[in-house]
Amino acid sequence: MKNVLKRNIRILLIVFCVMFTGLTVYLGYMVGVYGERWFVTPYNPRLNRMQANVQPGDILDRTGKQLYYSSGGKRTYMSGSGQRRAAAHILGDSDGMTYGAQTMFAKYLYGYDQGSVTRIVDLVSGNPRKGSDVMLTIDARLCETAYKALDGNRGAVVVMNYKTGEILASTSSPSFDPLRMEEFLEGGGESELVNRAFSGLYPPGSTFKIVSASALIHNGMADYKATCTGSTQIGGKTITCTGKHGDLDLKGALAQSCNVYFAQAATELGIDAIEREAAKFLFNTELLFDDVIMGQSVFNTALNDADNAWAAIGQHQDLVTPLHACMIAASIANNGVMMEPKLLYSVSGRNMLAPRAAAAVAADTQALKDMMIQAVKDGTGSAAAIKGVTVGGKTGTAEIEDKDGRAAHAWFIGFIDDDEHLLAIAVVMERAGSGGKHAAPAARRVLRKAIELGY
Ligand SMILES: [Zn+2]
Repeated sequence: MKNVLKRNIRILLIVFCVMFTGLTVYLGYMVGVYGERWFVTPYNPRLNRMQANVQPGDILDRTGKQLYYSSGGKRTYMSGSGQRRAAAHILGDSDGMTYGAQTMFAKYLYGYDQGSVTRIVDLVSGNPRKGSDVMLTIDARLCETAYKALDGNRGAVVVMNYKTGEILASTSSPSFDPLRMEEFLEGGGESELVNRAFSGLYPPGSTFKIVSASALIHNGMADYKATCTGSTQIGGKTITCTGKHGDLDLKGALAQSCNVYFAQAATELGIDAIEREAAKFLFNTELLFDDVIMGQSVFNTALNDADNAWAAIGQHQDLVTPLHACMIAASIANNGVMMEPKLLYSVSGRNMLAPRAAAAVAADTQALKDMMIQAVKDGTGSAAAIKGVTVGGKTGTAEIEDKDGRAAHAWFIGFIDDDEHLLAIAVVMERAGSGGKHAAPAARRVLRKAIELGY
C-alpha cells in the first residue's frame, strides 16, 4: 500500500514537472514571439508611466519633415491638414487607438532603446530624459497624392520599394485629422480609425489571377489554352466572364482577365495546387513583421468545383489586405522574392533598415512579369501606363454583396519594371466599380508622383 502511494506521488510529481516545464517553454516562446507587441499595447502601464517622465522623440518622414514633434514643450503635428489626414494611420494617435508609429515605435520614442549609461547620466545630471527621433520610410507628399488619388472613395493605397520593402506611401480613406482628435471622437466615427491599408481584408477579385497563373506555370500548365464564349459550366454552375474573349493562352487570359480561362484551367489543375501556391504567396499565414501589423489574408477551398473555380479567380472566400496585395505585385517585380514591409528608416540617425525576405514565391517570375506588362500595354490595365517607363500590373473588379447591396471594389496592383524606379503599388477603391477604369488611373497618378519625387 505504502509503495503504491509512493509510486503515485512520484508519477504525480513527474506529471507536474512536465507541465511546469511545458508552461515555462510556452511562456518563453510567447514572450519571444509577441513580446514586442505586448510592450507597445496602450494597456502597458509601464509604458504609460515612462511617457509621463520622458520627452518623446520626434517622428519624421524619410525627407526629414517633422510629422509629429515637440515644439516649445508641446507635442504637435505637422501643418497641412491634407498630409496629416493622408498619413494619419501611419502616425497613429497619442492615445493608442490606432496602431501607428506612435504605438509601434514607442520603445524608441520614449528612449527605452537607449543604453543604461545614457539613462544614468541623465538621471544624475538631472537632464530631462529625451527619447530617440524616429524617421519613417514614408514620404508625406506621396501619401497626400495617394489619398487624393482615391478621389473621395473609401479604400487604400500602398507604395513600396520592391527590392528593400520600404513603404514609401500608405494611406487609408476615410481618415481623421490627428490634430483634431477630440473633435473627431465627439463625432463618433470609428470606421475612420481603421487602417484599411494594413488591416482591411478585401476580396482580391482578378488580382488573384496572378497567384493562379503562377500555379499554372509551376505545375506544367503554362501552355494551357481555352476558348471563352462569355461563360462556362463548372460543377453544374455557370461561371460568367466580362466578355467573349475567344481563343486564349495564359498570357492573353491574364491581359484580358478572362474568368472562363482561369475557371477551366484551375479546375483541370485542381484546387490543391492553387492553395499551395497561395500559401507560397503567404495567404493563410500569420505574419509577424517588425514594423507593421498586417491582417491575415485568406484562401479557402470548397467542396464543389464551382466555388473552387471562383476561388481561383479571386472570389469565393478569398481575402487580402492592400499591403499584402502590394507585396504580391512587388514579389513578381523582384524576381520572386517577397520582401518584408519596412516602415522604420532610422532611429536618431542610426540606420534601422535591414531588408529581409518574407518569402520566396518562385525561382523565376519573368513570365509573370511579362504577362503583367502585357496587361498594361494592351489589356485591362492600360490606364496605368506611364510614358517613358515600363509598367506591369493587374486589375481587379471584386464583386461583393453586403447590407448596402451588390457592388464591386476597384483594384489595381502593379510595378514599374525599371532599376531606377523600384516601385510596386496596390490601390483599392471600395464600391467604385471597374478596376481598369478607376483604380488603374489612380495608380498611374501616384506612380507618376513617385517618379517626380525621385523614387
Ligand atoms: Zn473571357
